[in-house]
Amino acid sequence: MKKQTRVTHPKEVKLRTGNDAVVSPVFQTVKFTYPTIAASLTAEAKEHGFDYTRDSNPTTRELELLAAELQDRDDAIAVGSGMAAIWLALLGNLEAGDRVIIFVESYRPNRVAVRRFLAKLGIEHTMLSVHDLAGIEQAFAQDDTKLVLFEAPTNPMLQVPDLAAITKLAKQHDVVTVLDNTFAGLHNHGRYELDYFVHSLTKYANGHGDAMGGIVIGDAKRIRAIKPLAVNMGSVLDPGVAFLVTRGLKTYYLRYERHSANALAIAEWLSKRKEVTKVYYPGLPSDRGHALAREQMTDFGGVLSFDLAADKDRTWAFIDALELFTTTASLGSTESLVAPCRLYLGTDLSADEQARAGLTDSTVRFAVGIEHVDDLIADIEQALEKNFG
Ligand code: PLP
Repeated sequence: MKKQTRVTHPKEVKLRTGNDAVVSPVFQTVKFTYPTIAASLTAEAKEHGFDYTRDSNPTTRELELLAAELQDRDDAIAVGSGMAAIWLALLGNLEAGDRVIIFVESYRPNRVAVRRFLAKLGIEHTMLSVHDLAGIEQAFAQDDTKLVLFEAPTNPMLQVPDLAAITKLAKQHDVVTVLDNTFAGLHNHGRYELDYFVHSLTKYANGHGDAMGGIVIGDAKRIRAIKPLAVNMGSVLDPGVAFLVTRGLKTYYLRYERHSANALAIAEWLSKRKEVTKVYYPGLPSDRGHALAREQMTDFGGVLSFDLAADKDRTWAFIDALELFTTTASLGSTESLVAPCRLYLGTDLSADEQARAGLTDSTVRFAVGIEHVDDLIADIEQALEKNFG
């Protein structure tokens, strides 16, 4: 064989039966083949085989099955980002003429997806507060209401919806429930009767702020119903990224525990400071959502928000003065992050809607990392003293 041919057909090194890799390899391949066409058409090949990575890939499949198990469901579809997962859950379940219920406290791009883009497809929406159970019941009872998209806790104001109440109403009125469970993580909320869980894998799952991904998780029937759309719209997660997320998941429980412990300690510390007028963290006994969160979650996560007794300029100066907290969106990375809430997460809302969501110019969001909490608190203290001292 000429070397020009050899480089495209290298000699394959196959592991012999019984000689296995300890860590699953990355199937960094777009195509899969069979020795014969007939072999590719057997029932076994159709059910469990791989043809093309946009359909499925063993490395990505391993991640899907692991994430589904952590979330107490049978199946999942991993996609290129959290927003791609939101879109898959929406488009897979809606058609023109349908109505979606969303919440004023929710993550900005989730609202934008529904208010700006679904509207173009003839899909209406109603936006409520997650606390307005009477309004939710009324909206669910409308004939055209097909789906509710919500978060628990919400980003960025950490509001805790009543999952048992909302899922019960949704079942009564045949409304599909899609919970963006990114904040609570894969280990929370599995026991509630939710139809689809969506996660940004970019956050706690991968955990290191260096890879993007998303996932839709549900029972096998619901996932089968949206799989053809996922394949056709090409939302696939690259196997190289799937490998990184699966590797991240090995330390997921350790990291989530540490994120939560750090966030709780910071929330407690902030709530005693005179410069802070309000702390939003469901782990605090004084928080509005504490009792519900304790019932629904095993721990409270690494994100908290708070209001400073300051105007916008002083709030931004406080954020700029932080040295260990990096000013950026996102969460669930090893390093701590800080965001001015209204600017980063509320600009699509009217002034009235921002007020309903609790967003002000002095609201700050911390996505707490896994550093030593003493260093984080010392950093917050120096930034407060520099600006309020
Ligand atoms: N949902 C929530 C609650 C988020 O916080 C984010 C990102 O911050 C997303 C979805 C979107 O995830 P991605 O950035 O991976 O698209």
